[in-house]
This record gives sequence, structure tokens and C-alpha cells, in this order.
Amino acid sequence: MEKTEDGSQGFLPHFAHFATQAIHVGQEPEQWSSRAVVPPISLSTTFKQLAPGQHYGFEYSRSGNPTRNCLEKAVAALDGAKYCLAFASGLAATVNIAHLLKAGDGIICVDDVYGGTNRYFRKVASQMGLKFTFVDCSKLECLEAAITPKTKRPLSLGADICMYSATKYMNGHSDVVMGLVSVNCDNLYERLKFLQNAIGAVPSPFDCYLCNRGLKTLHIRMKQHFHNALVVAQYLESNPRVEKVIYPGLPSHPQHELMKRQCSGCPGMITFYIKGNLDHANIFLKNLKLFALAESLGGYESLAEHPAIMTHASVPEEEREVLGISDTMIRLSVGLEDTQDILEDLEQALKAALPDHMVYN
Ligand SMILES: *Cc1c(COP(=O)(O)O)cnc(C)c1O
Repeated sequence: MEKTEDGSQGFLPHFAHFATQAIHVGQEPEQWSSRAVVPPISLSTTFKQLAPGQHYGFEYSRSGNPTRNCLEKAVAALDGAKYCLAFASGLAATVNIAHLLKAGDGIICVDDVYGGTNRYFRKVASQMGLKFTFVDCSKLECLEAAITPKTKRPLSLGADICMYSATKYMNGHSDVVMGLVSVNCDNLYERLKFLQNAIGAVPSPFDCYLCNRGLKTLHIRMKQHFHNALVVAQYLESNPRVEKVIYPGLPSHPQHELMKRQCSGCPGMITFYIKGNLDHANIFLKNLKLFALAESLGGYESLAEHPAIMTHASVPEEEREVLGISDTMIRLSVGLEDTQDILEDLEQALKAALPDHMVYN
């Protein structure tokens, strides 16, 4: 597909390591006649053909775009997958995957799934005849009990489909909404590729350029997110104004040992419960200066939010209670700022919410 002027296929060595793959795979300068080292933003919606039905790999930008290609190839390499497809959002990726099924098929879903996915499943996809079971997947017996002959389930040890909201750490700069799906199976790829074009929820070339660019620093960003978040989690856990901290990087987390077996680190997401009530949570959030009060996560900047009122407001109150999403729960997305500045901001906001006399009496 990417034959260069001199007829060579372009230099595509097999790099084994994550950082090198993220920076080089799919980015070969030989694929462009200009030998551009950074992939150009290919804005053209249409591509000139040699003869009817005879083209250079691209016809129309919804079915395929050179900038999108660069991103898809890099992500496929990172997943050790043969193929990757980019979508207009994480939810658009979910919709395309759901379209692989037909009315009557069953989906088992974790009960604390992202709110937007919960809404799409319960209010949209269920209208098209798909059946949903929401399960606490930290308990294997619950998952096994939910499986029926109608369940469409990954067959082998590994999953068949790997799906991301690239909006988060992969782009990492809070300026792109995008979804990515990696697969190995040729047939599954063909079906999803068909749906990507047929449904039409594709990302713009500019968004693909930005996400591809963000991917180049993913490995170093994640190290720093982990470093900052671990320091913050330890600080919060030993803080007299904090009730409880949930962070897989802390030994107090129920899946800490599992995390250590499966992961090389944790992201910047921390949940904690402030002492007191909703008022104290609100005062804390209002007093933050470095953290912005905002939804979403995974960007270079630190964010804080109140799940019960913001991201999880659409979850019914009884369900929020079961999941532990209370009035004093606060979620942090710890960014890449200086660790000391992050700690100082948390310290002053915690002290504003709960003055000394309320803590030490
Ligand atoms: C953000 C997010 C989504 C939705 O992705 P969008 O890119 O916002 O459409 C789905 N699942 C999880 C776990 C997420 O964090």
C-alpha cells in the first residue's frame, strides 16, 4: 500500500520495545515522496485514482486516510496486534464493536463500567435487542454465573478485541476525543473495517495527527504520572483529614498484588474520601488552585472532580451507594506538574476544608 517512488516498500524494521515502536512504527519517512520525518496532516477528503477502481491505497477519507493510517499502525504495534482501527470517540468504538452482534445476543459488563458506556448499553443498545448483565467482575464466580449460551465471549485466553478511549492517556493532552480498537483476527478486522466506514464515526486527520504525536511520549508520561500519583496517594493515606484512599499502587488496595503481577506501574488516577460531609468535599474542591475542577482524566494537567455530582450523577443513588460513590468521594487525575507543587495545593485545600480544630480536638 505504501510503495515509495523508487518502488521499495519503505523501511519497516521490527522493533521489539514499546518506546521505539510508539515513536517509529507506521511513521517511516519513505512512505512520503517528501520523506517527511513527521507524518503530514493529510486533509484531503478524496484521492485521485489511476483508473476507475485503481488507486494508490486511498479513495475517500472515511474509508482510509494516510494520517489515520500512521496512528493505527503505531497502536497495532504497541498491542502486538495485526490491525488497529481509529474511531471518533471511545464510545464510537464501543458502538462499532456492538454492531458485530445481532438482536438477542448477550453482553456481560463490569458493574462499575464507565458511565457513558452504561448509558449506551442500557438506553440505546438494549433498544436494538442486545441483552446486558452487569456483574462485579472482581468475583470470578459472579462472572461465571452470568455466562449463558447467548453470551458472546472472547474464546481463547487472550481477548479478541482491545479497545481504548484514546481521549485519556494515549493522546494525553486533553485536546482530542478518540477511540481505538486493535484486533488480530483477519475476519474480525474486515468486519470492523467495514463498520468503521459504514457507520462513519471516524476521527479527523488533525485529531489523528495529535493523537499520534501524543503517543510518542506516552511511555515517559506514564512513568511520571505513576511517580506523582504514588507520592500523592501516600501523602493522602497518612493525612488526618482523609478517611480512605483507593490507589492500586498502595499495599492497602485489595488488588495490589494482582497489579504488581500484571502491571509495571499505575496511572495518575486516585480516589479518596475526605473526612466530614458534602460541604467539606465542596470546600476542598473550591480551594484547589493547581488542580482544575473538571471531568475526564489522563492529560498532563491535574484535575479533580466529585463523582457523585459530576461524572456519575446519572448512576441511580442506590447503585452509587453499592459502588461506594458517596458525597465525600473525590477523584483526582494527577498530572505531570512538579510533585511538590501538587502536594502543596492538596495540603492547603484540605486545611481550608477541615481546619485544625476539626481534626485535632
Ligand atoms: C472516557 C472513557 C470512555 C469513553 O471514551 P470517549 O473517548 O470519551 O468516548 C469509555 N470507557 C472508559 C473506561 C473511559 O474512561
